[in-house]
Amino acid sequence: MNGELVKDLQAKIILHWNARNFTTLPNELQHYGSHAKEIYLRWNNIHVLPSWIGFNLTSLTNLYLEFNKLNSIPNELSFLKNLETLHLDSNNFTTIPEPIFKLSALKCLKFSRNLIKSIPKDIKMLNHLECLDISGNLLKFLPFEISFCVNLREINLGENQLLWLPRSMTRLPKLEIISVETNSLHFLPALPFRSLPIIDIRLNSKLNWCSIQALGQKFVNLDHCGEGVSLEKRCGDWTIVSQQFIETRCSGCTQTIFLPSDLRISHQNESTVSSLVELSQRVVYEKFYAICQNEDLGCKDEEEAMDVDEDLKHFKLPKEIEKRLEQGPSAICFKCQRPLFTHVYLSVTHSNVIQIPHCLVFYCSKSCASE
Ligand SMILES: [Zn+2]
Ligand SMILES: [Zn+2]
Repeated sequence: MNGELVKDLQAKIILHWNARNFTTLPNELQHYGSHAKEIYLRWNNIHVLPSWIGFNLTSLTNLYLEFNKLNSIPNELSFLKNLETLHLDSNNFTTIPEPIFKLSALKCLKFSRNLIKSIPKDIKMLNHLECLDISGNLLKFLPFEISFCVNLREINLGENQLLWLPRSMTRLPKLEIISVETNSLHFLPALPFRSLPIIDIRLNSKLNWCSIQALGQKFVNLDHCGEGVSLEKRCGDWTIVSQQFIETRCSGCTQTIFLPSDLRISHQNESTVSSLVELSQRVVYEKFYAICQNEDLGCKDEEEAMDVDEDLKHFKLPKEIEKRLEQGPSAICFKCQRPLFTHVYLSVTHSNVIQIPHCLVFYCSKSCASE
């Protein structure tokens, strides 16, 4: 045993053990660490955590392990029921390890500058999480289950390869800051974030449109010119090239605009009719899901929501539709505010935001679109 470490442990509940060349947790912690609350172990060479961590460090609230060589976590870590802050930035993780999702008190989780390619759906179990940093990783997608982390206030997703954000994220009721700078976003959710967070979307060179409802959000450092968006500034000529993209072609604005792959687009003047599936999704959502999901903190009226839950159990919806309804609408009709899922009528206008030159206006039907 190292006498200095033992003395430290007997005198303190916050331990500053940064940069000491540890390759694992020192044994002194196993014997004298049961009352330790915060441990700083930054800049060591720790490549494995012992399983006793879960049995012997049960008072731990904050654990700082930035700049080590970890790529896994023992299952026993999940026994740390008081752990609120866990920093694992600059290690070698390729995913968020499962034991972390059982840390029921966790409020702040940091994993920046690792090699994370995907986030498991179980992220939804972290329902006390307030702050999540996964910047500087290799993410292309996020699971829509992240919208179940209803206490999230800050999310940092900067410097990844994200192609889009799950639209269910817009429902997060307490979100204050979301950073998605330096990614590959092709589009933003068409509905605005409900809690009006500050949104950082700088350095997403493929992002060239925003829905008219989402354009007025609090974006960081976007350059504006002229008046706000007006429906009069229609894009003169645009065509549907394929299901997933349209092309604008009026002078000086030739651009390819990518849209969510599950969206069928009709031109605002087109005389198509929405499928029965689309029409029933709209009705079922309005009648059952909207009550629980549209209000700021869950339900307008708890009793009403419980009735709806009961009613929903009698439905046997196809899995795909159920998932779509759970994620919420893809867009809202600009005219009548109906939720839209897989079919929209579209008009395209120019925006006054230099970085996002086009603004898309979604409608539920030809009649809403042509008024
Ligand atoms: Zn144009
Ligand atoms: Zn409408």
